[in-house]
Amino acid sequence: MPSRKSIDVPPFIVMEVLERAQELERQGRDIVHLEVGEPDFDTPERVCEKACAAMRGGDTHYTHSMGKIELREAICAWHERQYGRKVTPDRIIVSSGTSPILLLIFMALCDPGDEVIISDPHYACYPNIISFAGGVPVRVAVREEEGYAFTPDAIDRAITPRTKAILINSPSNPTGTVMPDESLRAVAQCGLTAVSDEIYHGLIYEGPMRSMLEFTDECVVVNGFSKLFAMTGWRLGYAIVPRELARPMQKMQQNFLISAPAFAQSAAIIALNECGSETRAMREEYDRRRRLVIRRVREMGFALPAPPTGAFYVFLNVKDICRRTGKNCYDLAFDILEKQGVAVTPGIDFGPGGEGYIRLSYATKYECLEEGLDRLERYFIKECPDLMQGERN
Ligand code: PMP
Repeated sequence: MPSRKSIDVPPFIVMEVLERAQELERQGRDIVHLEVGEPDFDTPERVCEKACAAMRGGDTHYTHSMGKIELREAICAWHERQYGRKVTPDRIIVSSGTSPILLLIFMALCDPGDEVIISDPHYACYPNIISFAGGVPVRVAVREEEGYAFTPDAIDRAITPRTKAILINSPSNPTGTVMPDESLRAVAQCGLTAVSDEIYHGLIYEGPMRSMLEFTDECVVVNGFSKLFAMTGWRLGYAIVPRELARPMQKMQQNFLISAPAFAQSAAIIALNECGSETRAMREEYDRRRRLVIRRVREMGFALPAPPTGAFYVFLNVKDICRRTGKNCYDLAFDILEKQGVAVTPGIDFGPGGEGYIRLSYATKYECLEEGLDRLERYFIKECPDLMQGERN
């Protein structure tokens, strides 16, 4: 019999949408994929070349458990270039993606019952990772009208004697919004360990890019190569941690993961040091798509009061469509898939605060996006003809 805690892990709904979409494709249906949160670009060529050369040159062994020193130095230099903040390699731990890094962080932070504040909506895996590590996720509602940012009051109200940390994600998955400086400062000053998931850094289209490290040194910064460098399949991420967390995390890495892949680490140095033009080109293309989605959904009558300025998502408020069709957002998403062949992620995947929303990912080709938006509009017109005529929110 499987363990209680493994049975209790909820499924990742986006994967269920993807699996149904693939089933329909096998039946010959043409599906537009706006559900997957993964860059459609391939990894920059020079990164692949470095990995091949490294592999052939025997770079195929375990590495230092915290990551190759050359990579950790390159990460320090990248952070100094981006944010003007100095960090040292002894505070960096590299692992097989930010997902295991998050697990290591919360295992290092949480004794059983310790609370971690997260936003609602939030990245789907956060509460599951925190719970599995023994912590208790405490959801704090963030509102579309306030740009999905934490307010100091809301944080204060959520803090109890058991609160250990607060986890933020800016730019955010699923909302694509970027936290303003005041909110980052409020998080930095709230007296908890701030864990800042900065995996979408570099994919910001308007305004400045600020790291939590600029507001406090006593924080945990999480980042990785999956998004900015289009390296999801390489499984490489890292954390910058306060010194007292480095050793506990290192010991868990030694025991549970040993090290991240050697040749991937070598190639990642090239990503950090030599791929400015490739990442700029990808960012420009994401921005072109972002503008398309914002324009098209507004033309359809969606107000989009907190338009996304980062990552590659648009979180669309479809509450009136849900009301009119009598469907929750989960059923709505599957209905859109069946009837129009567009895969979107139901907002409920991102917490109770996501009910009444769907997430559109624009990490897909411009032409596919246009087709997907045409189909979505057709769905809304067909199912709610009266709604689609006037202004709504
Ligand atoms: N954090 C956020 C906010 C994400 O969206 C993702 C991937 N979807 C991850 C972490 C995990 O990324 P990876 O494990 O590929 O580094």
